Amino acid sequence: MRLTFLGTGTSNGVPMIGCDCPVCQSPDPRDRRNRTSAVVHDEAADRIYLIDTATELRLQAIAHGLNRVDAILMTHAHADHTGGFDDLRRFNELQQRHLPVYANPETAKVLRERYAYAFEDVFPFYGGKPDLHLHEVTGPFTPFGADTLEIVPIPVIHGRLPITGYRFGDLAYVTDAKAIPDASLDLLRGLDTLVLNALRATPHPTHLSIPEAVAIIQEVRPRRAYLVHLSHELSHAAASALLPAGIEIAYDGLTVTTAAKV
Ligand SMILES: [Zn+2]
Ligand SMILES: [Zn+2]
Ligand SMILES: [Zn+2]
Repeated sequence: MRLTFLGTGTSNGVPMIGCDCPVCQSPDPRDRRNRTSAVVHDEAADRIYLIDTATELRLQAIAHGLNRVDAILMTHAHADHTGGFDDLRRFNELQQRHLPVYANPETAKVLRERYAYAFEDVFPFYGGKPDLHLHEVTGPFTPFGADTLEIVPIPVIHGRLPITGYRFGDLAYVTDAKAIPDASLDLLRGLDTLVLNALRATPHPTHLSIPEAVAIIQEVRPRRAYLVHLSHELSHAAASALLPAGIEIAYDGLTVTTAAKV
């Protein structure tokens, strides 16, 4: 599995509009964080999974050479994770087919309401709108047939909202969690690489803090972990200094590869 971080920032992005704090003004390119999203390439099967359609999807796709998407996995329907949804239409046009979107039932309901036009077939694949098939997931699923990679949804709690992380073999991606139920912690054991959210150093009602994220990582013990969805309160350097060995702050454009033992 190869994962590229398309964005690693919280809902405002970093820099924030109208903020002159040291992080928003930082010259370090790792302190420029688009809204959180990632692409996972199952290289053995040559399948490309896009996780969320962040606000900057078009810019992220161009910056990182993303010119094909085989499936879209949505973690939840907050605007920072869905703002680029309309940009999916370009992939329909390039690929001349419907694209499958996977989401839990709560997220699917919101997507159907907010983007109703993307699920109606008027003139498919002309690039004027997305042409999508929406699938509700409540357990492990195989988007490309029975003998292909099984993707395991990881239910987590984001404030009061039940949202979804995803596991792809030895790689798992969880964003916007505040709490991870015990049954979901069990789904995160035996990983090569875990991606987890951490907003800032201090507690927040709907997002893990860095110490809370570190505690979860030390509980499930992946070989290594990367933190995403950071606010402007910590620079990459300052946040990195808070972490033990084996845990790193991700940054936009970083690519990591696992052993792909699936
Ligand atoms: Zn978010
Ligand atoms: Zn700032
Ligand atoms: Zn959210």
